[in-house]
Amino acid sequence: VDANVVPIAGKTKEDMNLIVLLYDITEIRRLEKVRTDFVTNASHELRTPITALKGFSETLLDGAMEDKVILKQFLEIMLEESTRLNLLVNDILELSKLEQRQVPISFEEVVVKEAVLSTFKLMNQKAEQKKITMNLFEEDSVKIEGDKNRLKQILANLVDNAVIYTKPGGTIDVTVKKNKNKAMITISDNGMGIPEDEINRIFERFYRVDKGRSRNSGGTGLGLSIVKYLVENSNGKITVESKVGLGTTFALIFPLRHL
Ligand code: ADP
Repeated sequence: VDANVVPIAGKTKEDMNLIVLLYDITEIRRLEKVRTDFVTNASHELRTPITALKGFSETLLDGAMEDKVILKQFLEIMLEESTRLNLLVNDILELSKLEQRQVPISFEEVVVKEAVLSTFKLMNQKAEQKKITMNLFEEDSVKIEGDKNRLKQILANLVDNAVIYTKPGGTIDVTVKKNKNKAMITISDNGMGIPEDEINRIFERFYRVDKGRSRNSGGTGLGLSIVKYLVENSNGKITVESKVGLGTTFALIFPLRHL
């Protein structure tokens, strides 16, 4: 706690008053730390593909490009690394735009089923490649008060993760139902699950349970922090339950649309 003591002169010495201002700076300090950690981590994450691009291009120029097979192999790696760099920069920009509130979140009627089906369409090819089945179970026709594009972005991130962290032949179930005056959407997979002692950290920026696996599957480690930001700024809540080896369920709660 920081304190400012401001003396206020009175007519006589006995009249002298003091105003004591107390600020709780723990939250300010915490936010400062989140920001500096973010810059440190982002620079570190960006350095990995940049180092690879530099290394491979130097090796090629040093003579390795004479060998056609090596040339092709290195160029393929360089393409992969630049795609990764692109994804990273996009996610970093998305987070910072969101934080600066450059992209407003609107509140309109959103038919949840339509958002889920359009997400399935988007993910269909990736899921088919891994022979993963995606199902939608909807008990009622549920409409929420939210932002259609943001809901699609949230669902795309969660379904994308479910596809990535589930073995070939797995299943992803999305359920949509009303619960009192709220809408509840769950996204469940029967994939690898998340260890109990790490589950609280997965919404942190750049946190990954398995850095290598996430990296190989194109993950930036920022998806869930973007999701959490979007959900909470749409008056929603997100929770997660998981068992290693059995699977993971993310639950979203949003306000229902009242006509
Ligand atoms: P990433 O780009 O690495 O997927 P996210 O922020 O989307 O980053 O997720 C953070 C981490 O949470 C992932 O690296 C992964 O370890 C874990 N995770 C997220 N979704 C799932 C899931 N459905 N099953 C298992 N682990 C998951």
